[in-house]
Amino acid sequence: MKVEFFKHSLGKAERDSLDKTLRSLYLTTGKQVDIFEKGLAAYSGVSQAVGLTSCTAAMHLALLAAGIGEGDEVITTPMTFVATSHAILMAGATPVFVDVEPATGNIDAARISAAITKKTKAILPVHLYGQMADMKTILAIAKKHKLVVIEDAAHVLEASRDGVRPGARSFGACLSFYATKSITSGEGGAFITNNAQAAKMVTRLRLHGVNRELVQRERTKLNTYDITELGWKYNMDNIDAALLTPQLKTIKRNHARRMAIAKRYRAAFEGLVDMPAMLPNSVHAHHLFPIWVNAKHRDRIALVLKEKGVGVSVVHYPPVHLLEYYKKRFGYKKGDFPLAESIGPRAISLPLYPLLTDKEIEYVIKEVRAAVIQYS
Ligand SMILES: *Cc1c(COP(=O)(O)O)cnc(C)c1O
Repeated sequence: MKVEFFKHSLGKAERDSLDKTLRSLYLTTGKQVDIFEKGLAAYSGVSQAVGLTSCTAAMHLALLAAGIGEGDEVITTPMTFVATSHAILMAGATPVFVDVEPATGNIDAARISAAITKKTKAILPVHLYGQMADMKTILAIAKKHKLVVIEDAAHVLEASRDGVRPGARSFGACLSFYATKSITSGEGGAFITNNAQAAKMVTRLRLHGVNRELVQRERTKLNTYDITELGWKYNMDNIDAALLTPQLKTIKRNHARRMAIAKRYRAAFEGLVDMPAMLPNSVHAHHLFPIWVNAKHRDRIALVLKEKGVGVSVVHYPPVHLLEYYKKRFGYKKGDFPLAESIGPRAISLPLYPLLTDKEIEYVIKEVRAAVIQYS
């Protein structure tokens, strides 16, 4: 049996939608992007959504829109994909890491205050695996110290915590539509927020800083523009939006299926391996399903599972501060963030997507149990 690590669920609705766009006049940013943005904002319960080419782009532009740059520090977590801290560097600022909660792998809000300096301008929490970080505490700290909060919400399109959804109370949240995310156009992203000013700035920055408002104010009838600032080239196009729009309708159903699969995995592995804790007052998006095994045996267990045809991943995540570039540039060493370091080398992510069949789920459970029992 061969169980892929991930399979997308795109089908006829997406093909039809794409076909319609291909037969239309405009392929780049246009009406289809507007439609997707409105639908995404409605789904997310926020007033604004801006379509972009990636979550990395969303974080980069959100930081710039918040006025963050050279000489500023941004507090974030080392337990994430490198995109988070790279985006801080792209903005010209310096990432300052804070260690994580051992139970969830999320940034430990109780450690944030100690990392704040005169240069700190923002906090960029990552909501890991599908479960949101402690936004209540993070927002309170930010308010006290006049810091901006920007969320890496790549894993949590469907999540909430204490009744608060991503992007609802912060400067904004950044979503990814990368190939393995819960809705996808292969590559893509968005910035979602209730802050209309932030959305307007990100919209301008996503296309070279083109400022059409300025021209419209001068009542020009032709479609011309002016540039008032340096911008980037991160605008979502109609092709990606055409693929994404029909997926908005299946988010709930797909999320329910992933929840059911995760529940079966948890029941089967309880007491056998460590798993991230499930928090109360929290809706888990179940983007990833990691088990945390003994680090000494992790690679062997993952290799055995691959040999048995179970698609697994061991990349969630090597702690960012120990990546060669970060060690060289900032002088980080082993032991700097021990809790993040204890999670990365123990993590094995299992297949978790709506197309998994019951037979495949049973097979994954059987092989994981056997491999863990054999090597522990
Ligand atoms: C996927 C992911 C990103 C990057 O998203 P892109 O759209 O590829 O830029 C950032 N952060 C986390 C936590 C992710 O999982």
